[in-house]
Amino acid sequence: MTLKLYTEPMSMPPYTVMCYTAGCPNLAAFKVAARWNDGLTHELKTYFLSCAACVPQLYSLALAKRAACRLAPGESLDVPGVYELHRGDRDKQLKRRPELEKAMGS
Ligand SMILES: [Zn+2]
Repeated sequence: MTLKLYTEPMSMPPYTVMCYTAGCPNLAAFKVAARWNDGLTHELKTYFLSCAACVPQLYSLALAKRAACRLAPGESLDVPGVYELHRGDRDKQLKRRPELEKAMGS
C-alpha cells in the first residue's frame, strides 16, 4: 500500500527540520551552505542544517569539508556561508549572516 501525499505547490511543507548534530534535540535555525558553480549551472550546496548552539561547530566542519573538496576543472565552490533558515524559503531568499561567519573565524 502506498501513501499518497497531497501537497499544494505554494504551501509550506508541514515538516520540521532538526539540527544535524548527532543527539542534538533542537530545531535547525541556520543553514550552512556554499555556492557551487560549474559554468553552466549554480546551486547552493548545503553542508549542514544547524540550531543556533551548534553553528560554530558545524560551520568549522563545513570549512574543513570545503577545503578537502576536489573540484573538477571549471567548477568553483565558494567559502561556506551561514544562512537563516526559514521553513519553505527558496534558497535565493535565504538571508546570509556574515557577522556570524566572521565571529567564527572564517
Ligand atoms: Zn544543534
